[in-house]
Amino acid sequence: MGKEKLLGKTLEELQAVCEAEGLKPFAAKQMAQWLYEKRATEIGEMTNLSKAARERLEERYTVGREAPVAETRSSDGTAKYLFPGAGGLEIEAVMIPDRERATLCVSSQAGCKMNCRFCMTGRQGFHGNLDAGAIINQVLSVPESQELTNIVFMGMGEPTDNLPEVLKAIEILTAPWGLAWSPKRITVSTIGNIPGLMRLLEETKVHIAVSVHSPFADERAGLMPVERSWPVGKVVELLRGYDFAHQRRLSMEYIMWRGINDDLRHAEALARLLRGTDARVNLIRFHRIPDFEGGPAEQKRMEAFRDRLNELGITATIRASRGEDIAAACGMLAGKDKQQQEQ
Ligand code: SF4
Repeated sequence: MGKEKLLGKTLEELQAVCEAEGLKPFAAKQMAQWLYEKRATEIGEMTNLSKAARERLEERYTVGREAPVAETRSSDGTAKYLFPGAGGLEIEAVMIPDRERATLCVSSQAGCKMNCRFCMTGRQGFHGNLDAGAIINQVLSVPESQELTNIVFMGMGEPTDNLPEVLKAIEILTAPWGLAWSPKRITVSTIGNIPGLMRLLEETKVHIAVSVHSPFADERAGLMPVERSWPVGKVVELLRGYDFAHQRRLSMEYIMWRGINDDLRHAEALARLLRGTDARVNLIRFHRIPDFEGGPAEQKRMEAFRDRLNELGITATIRASRGEDIAAACGMLAGKDKQQQEQ
């Protein structure tokens, strides 16, 4: 049997390890510091634990850090890293530099069950959840780890479908004994699973992004099957009950397809839907994928859409397109695809 990973354990879980291994309780804090602050890659580096304690830990545990297995870099500086995932599918993390910011887009699952029609990850099917250690590993093991300013859960997978591990990863990212990041530097993106979204709102202070893509139920259901279980109207109703004006931010993600959802009728319906929410809208340029009829909306249509939303009192911006040449943009993440695996 393989050794158990320490990476991804909370302070409480490290305390349980100490108890099980007969170590003093304060060793848990020391271990957390080695794992998350000092970024140790081997138990042997934890030199303020006694030699006997380190040896005992090494018998059953490993740190669990894994370096990327491949890397591709875009002409615009965006870098895509491939990590060991789950169920034979590797997962991707994307680092997006933008002036003084460096944002890491992390994956929470290998593949996805949600079947959004425009998404390459969805096409791969579901291969497994990532544990908190595999999520934190992406943050610690990209070469730019020390320069990161923001983390977005917008990579492969639907975070609310793997909520216990995502919540644990957020705890490790934000706890004083962990990476001590401000939750204001973390955004979780969801397609709007209501129970999951409620837990995120109640148990964390991170920013929330909801994928809308159409304000009309029938059209959205055609793009995103989740609309049938959790209609976006109900999601917005829930969000109206929370304060997004002060402590945390609410964004609505809206990928724009030519002739599908890029006219002013959609902009006006979207403004009506979002009235009273303090949500801002990110308009996203689509990157063509095989076997999906939608093509990217024209820049002029996107600008008119943005302007109409702004006129109607909804702050909207067009998100800069990054990493298209390395298939690192929204909806394009697929891990190692079948063709690559056969090579
Ligand atoms: S868009 Fe997100 S939720 Fe939908 S299939 Fe892709 S990864 Fe899953």
